[in-house]
Amino acid sequence: MSPKNVRAFRRSLLHWYRCRGRDLPWRGTRDAYAILVSEFMLQQTQVATVMPYYNEWLRRFPDFASLACASENHVLHAWQGLGYYARARNLHATARAVVDRHGGRFPRSIEAMQQLPGIGKYTAHAVASFAFNQPAPIVEANTARVLSRILNFRRPIDQTAGQKALWQHAAEFVPKRSARIYNSALIDLGALVCLPRRPRCGACPVKRFCRAINPKTLPVRKFRPRTKRLTEKHAFVVRQGKILLEQSAARWRGMWILPSLRTSPANQQPIYKSIFAFTNHHVALNVYAQRQHKFNTYSQLWIRLDSLEAIPIPSPHRRALQHLLQPDRH
Ligand code: SF4
Repeated sequence: MSPKNVRAFRRSLLHWYRCRGRDLPWRGTRDAYAILVSEFMLQQTQVATVMPYYNEWLRRFPDFASLACASENHVLHAWQGLGYYARARNLHATARAVVDRHGGRFPRSIEAMQQLPGIGKYTAHAVASFAFNQPAPIVEANTARVLSRILNFRRPIDQTAGQKALWQHAAEFVPKRSARIYNSALIDLGALVCLPRRPRCGACPVKRFCRAINPKTLPVRKFRPRTKRLTEKHAFVVRQGKILLEQSAARWRGMWILPSLRTSPANQQPIYKSIFAFTNHHVALNVYAQRQHKFNTYSQLWIRLDSLEAIPIPSPHRRALQHLLQPDRH
């Protein structure tokens, strides 16, 4: 696209954004900490899910210093229900690194940001533009889709060469002075108009610039992750007002789950079954009533039933506990 058309594209996009853009809580702040929190929470998670967590998180941990001082247990508990807990651990580690290495102030340089735990190219560019208004391009799901379509970009975006080329195109579009608003507008266009399966081209403010021939086929990806099915078996052991739980060392590291069983108990039906999604897995959770599960002093603990609310438990296991501990359950 010529520089003149790029400028006209931005004008149309920004005009639309001023009338139709979303009013999101993290858009009203320039605080790098609050913006970083929103960026971590929004990875793989929808805006509507993030909203209540974002406000509550800032109430509990208003800045890097307060988060750096918190225990991991406390941090995981606050993140409970959002999933992908590595994000919480990375955010926690980043807060500690900002306090230790940068005196509590988030660095302004994109290179320095990328030295912090869990901060990759996209997150660093997002904070640079949203907090510091630096002319940094961003390529995430929404902007990748919009740019691929506008440019009829047909190289696979999950391959290094395609990704690199798309970042270069994104850099050609980003304005020098108002990257903050421009990047927000591009994200909103992808979220509200240029939708994955049903792009609303008739209502699109930048339609006249769009070269997409068949937008639904864009962006191109070489690999589509296949969904894998797993079955996980766990024990439900309650005794004298306490329940046996195990501290996960794997997927939910540091959080408390029902004790794992290697095999399904013979001649026994599960007392609780559910299915949950985790990355590209569909996991069937089967829980079996057990009288005495092997006690592993390293990872398992008897926990009082009235203190379950205070400990971090991942959502699929918390739902199982809520169901199994209902007083009127037969
Ligand atoms: S015209 Fe359609 S495909 Fe092109 S940017 Fe707009 S919504 Fe997306």
